[in-house]
Amino acid sequence: MTVTLLGFPWDASSSYARGPALAPAIIRSTLFSDASSPFSLSGKDIREVISDEDFSALPADPKKCREQISQRIEDVLRAKRKPLSLGGDHSVTYPILRAVRDHHGPVNILHIDAHPDMYEEFEGDRYSHACPFARALEDKCIGNLVQLGIRSASPAQRAFGARHGVTMLGADEMDKIPYDQLAGPLYISIDLDGLDPAFAPGVSHPEPGGLSTREVLSVLSTLKGSLVGADIVELNPERDNNLTTAIVAGRLVKELAGLMA
Ligand code: MN
Ligand code: MN
Repeated sequence: MTVTLLGFPWDASSSYARGPALAPAIIRSTLFSDASSPFSLSGKDIREVISDEDFSALPADPKKCREQISQRIEDVLRAKRKPLSLGGDHSVTYPILRAVRDHHGPVNILHIDAHPDMYEEFEGDRYSHACPFARALEDKCIGNLVQLGIRSASPAQRAFGARHGVTMLGADEMDKIPYDQLAGPLYISIDLDGLDPAFAPGVSHPEPGGLSTREVLSVLSTLKGSLVGADIVELNPERDNNLTTAIVAGRLVKELAGLMA
């Protein structure tokens, strides 16, 4: 009885297409659908692991929204539970990580994404979904940051990552994952566009050449560090194909919850 499932229906920090605000409710419906089993791959019944939920609405003002996200994560951590958050766009991860830092100190992070999300600012917004890991690094929320699946890093983002000691790996560099850097306390952030669009078409910024669902599951099952929280972001149901991506997100929820149990 350890995991609280949170929904953050926010997509106003997206640079291109809206839609991810619709995602939490859809992922939740696939998760608890009779079309799939409630068990993680290692056999844990996630109905017993996820025993609390918070899908309340968020304020429309971006600053107030971030404050409320941090507050809700803090409430979960104070109750000695583990937050598993469903976005929303990737901007939600920065306020989550601030609360995680306040509770645990800097955490090691596995970040799966096609994009490094380390722009200093994007289209004038320092809190854009293209910026959360820049803000979290500046605010000392992160110990080691390992990014996997990256295939769109600008020179400026590569330089930012190098300055902060970030390990940035492409989807073809699974064998280079430094698992020793991912000791606990560990946090996992999964942007669904880190997967190949063949597996996860329902995203706003599809980048071919990504990870397979199987590869992501294999990485998760290899991690040894104690997982203190996780998020799954950037599902855009308006771009999805017959719930394909939502169902992948549901499987990832089960595995992440299983790891946290
Ligand atoms: Mn992305
Ligand atoms: Mn992202």
